[in-house]
Amino acid sequence: DLILFWHRRDLRISDNTGLAAAREQSPKVVGVFCLDPNILERDDVAPARMTYMIGCLQILQQRYAEAGSQLLILHGDPIAAIPALAVALNAKAVFWNWDVEPYSQIRDRSIIDTLKEKGIEFLTQNWDQLLHSPEEIRTGNNSPYTVYTPFWKNWSSKPKAKSVETLQNTEALTKAEQETAQKAGAIELPSAKDLGFIWDGELVISPGEAAAQSRLEEFTNQAIIEYQEQRNFPAVDGTSQLSAALKFGVIGIRTVWQATIAAQENSRSEEAQAGIRTWQQELAWREFYQQAMYNFPELAEGAYRDTFKNFPWETNEENFQAWCEGRTGYPIVDAAMRQLNEIGWMHNRCRMIVASFLTKDLLINPQLGEKYFMQKLIDGDLSANNGGWQWSASSGMDPKPVRIFNPASQAQKFDPEGEYIRQWVSELRSMDTEYLVTGKIPPLERHGIDYPEPIVDHKKQQKQFKQLYQQQKAST
Ligand code: FAD
Repeated sequence: DLILFWHRRDLRISDNTGLAAAREQSPKVVGVFCLDPNILERDDVAPARMTYMIGCLQILQQRYAEAGSQLLILHGDPIAAIPALAVALNAKAVFWNWDVEPYSQIRDRSIIDTLKEKGIEFLTQNWDQLLHSPEEIRTGNNSPYTVYTPFWKNWSSKPKAKSVETLQNTEALTKAEQETAQKAGAIELPSAKDLGFIWDGELVISPGEAAAQSRLEEFTNQAIIEYQEQRNFPAVDGTSQLSAALKFGVIGIRTVWQATIAAQENSRSEEAQAGIRTWQQELAWREFYQQAMYNFPELAEGAYRDTFKNFPWETNEENFQAWCEGRTGYPIVDAAMRQLNEIGWMHNRCRMIVASFLTKDLLINPQLGEKYFMQKLIDGDLSANNGGWQWSASSGMDPKPVRIFNPASQAQKFDPEGEYIRQWVSELRSMDTEYLVTGKIPPLERHGIDYPEPIVDHKKQQKQFKQLYQQQKAST
């Protein structure tokens, strides 16, 4: 009996809980991925992300072929396309891994209704992308956590599942079934360009399971040891760069966790233990924001805290454009935005700096920044991006009332030699380090250099932000 396995954000055949469950029930498991116009035609889809995703799908097709089966590609609304394919192929069941995002849950419920009507079985309740279900980690009152630290304590104390078996020895569709699948909408995998996504930049993160796996091994064998020290320096390659693979589930989260446990066992130094623990905490941030999105879907709509629900953000198109283009006159901010524009990835420290700058210095609505990030990031992910923006804007679950980053002190601390700034802001390459990191470039030094004056004054702007914050706080 044929089981269709619907891939969404789990573009791999190894350590895939839903897929392993399908294979357990049937020797004939065929994969399907649906290019969903409701997602692809939104105005916040990054060409880099889609190029990566299509690359992963190509490799996934090869992986299916090696396992003896196929990955079919559909292009259309999954609400109609998935049940139609299942009916056409006379599938016994459709399996997939459940997701936290509001859109996906509404869509999936509708598909379940149709499958039920057609008498097709389904299995969906796997929390494949998380180590713990968003319903599992609860406070003493049995409510979801809204504060990270107690969430981490609880989350980290729970035993974690082991990775599951990789799909193998499965049967393929017959020739006749393949023709039927085509009639039901199965197509050749289009290129990202065919779908309208042009990414001319280098793809800094290689697609596919093998690349993610070797990145994980490389990182957990080496850089994780110094992660605690190095993760804050954007000029250093000190983080895993696994975010795109984790977003699309190109690597299983259980596999990732096991690699951290192995690292703990292999390197007993205090430094290594601290580095590994800190990295595990980042994985827990990812889960914290996903459980937050699942339990409080209103997060996707805007500010979580009342103080920020009607905040009088400024509408200043010119300043917003300067921020997007990396022409604010604040070298660290500009370097970061240019990194984002050029490679579709930005170091975490810099994500915090530019998000603070947009909201606390330019007083611009974080939702605009959140959307711009989604339009560019190779790892753009609703829960993590929204969590990061709400944290930086002080509008989210973070218990600290207001956080304001001073771009100059951030640069002095985390890019003390101006290496990162020089890498991305080419016109400042030969500038003295002190001018670079403080952002105070004397008029004579500016001569002949096409680099803007600071578009706002940090001191003045942060005062204004605090004033507005106090007013809002008093009125809510
Ligand atoms: P590492 O430091 O190696 O961390 C390991 C993994 O942990 C990451 O791959 C990621 O999956 C997870 N992680 C780390 N930090 C966070 C965090 N703060 N929140 C959630 N998960 C985390 N991350 C995304 O994956 N997608 C986004 O769209 C995104 N947008 C962000 C927006 C803002 C304003 C901020 C401040 C952070 C955002 N992050 C986002 C979180 C973080 O910046 C990236 O996950 C990280 O920089 C990716 O690099 P890495 O894989 O080398 O991370």
